[in-house]
Amino acid sequence: MDPIRIAVVGLGKIARDQHLPAIAGNAAFSLAATVSPHDAGREGVAHFASLGDLLYGGPAIDAVALCTPPQVRYDLAALALKRGVHVFLEKPPGATLSEVVALRERADKVGVTLFAAWHSRFAAGVAPARAWLAERTIQKVSIVWREDVRVWHPGQAWIWEPGGLGVFDPGINALSILTHILPRPVFLEDAALSIPENRAAPIAAELRFRDTAGADIHMDLDWRQTGPQSWNITVETDAGTLKLSSGGAVLTLPGGTEHNEDLEYPGLYSRFANLIRGGRSDVDIDPLRLVADAFLRGRRESVEPFND
Ligand code: NAP
Repeated sequence: MDPIRIAVVGLGKIARDQHLPAIAGNAAFSLAATVSPHDAGREGVAHFASLGDLLYGGPAIDAVALCTPPQVRYDLAALALKRGVHVFLEKPPGATLSEVVALRERADKVGVTLFAAWHSRFAAGVAPARAWLAERTIQKVSIVWREDVRVWHPGQAWIWEPGGLGVFDPGINALSILTHILPRPVFLEDAALSIPENRAAPIAAELRFRDTAGADIHMDLDWRQTGPQSWNITVETDAGTLKLSSGGAVLTLPGGTEHNEDLEYPGLYSRFANLIRGGRSDVDIDPLRLVADAFLRGRRESVEPFND
């Protein structure tokens, strides 16, 4: 079977750290081109300043991975779908829910694959956590996602703009895990968003959700964390406590702790190849919907200015 000729669009941090190595490590794909307005590209790989230049004047491609900020992703995805090209959307899949739904409908109509990738769902502890929780009664959930924005997002202006999500950019990863491992649907009850007075997006948020059986879910998001960082989800059940730490990589059950290798992006690319080969799409908007609800229903509090 010929490899899927893929182009990586947006050669920023995540494309360099994860996408290019994952593509290089998966024989189902061959890197056909890169696109980025202010990057010279990679030696030996065709490079373009815009997706339009690639699609209308470059080598033939079968798929694109859109690794840009979410605010520009809809137009890029719509252009690729128009040319019959399969699309991998980095998380969050878009800047609004309605644009993602429109893309999903478009992909179905055109008959190509659209994949809304939630990388944290591929963290090593997540699948076994989901399986373990499927047979338990959930009593209470606590999410603590606290990191230092200066370490993880230095100088990323887009993240503070409308559609950039602020602290929900990492927080949506926790919600992608939560919505995947809990056996019942979850909805927002209450949220408080702390927004620096010189920025458009929150630097911290406190949220309360409930599942449809009444279990309380508390979420603490904060980008002002220095020192040790926390990416933890704790679920209390009738059979004891489950803890996912290190962003889902480490799973602790009442019987002990499992540490496994980080295979999030290799897992995403295997899934993308399977979707393409099987002629299917995978577009789950639940995590983005919970974030949208927080912006819809949350109380906003102005906090001290943030400067990089
Ligand atoms: P980033 O470092 O700011 O990179 C974004 C890149 O997008 C920039 O290099 C920019 O290219 C490019 N870009 C902007 N507009 C474009 C356009 N119209 N066409 C083509 N390229 C365009 O951001 P990032 O951290 O990689 O994050 C990108 C996405 O991945 C976000 O949605 C984020 O949530 C997600 N993500 C990030 C991480 C992480 O650890 N950073 C982890 C998982 C997922 P130029 O520099 O050439 O202008």
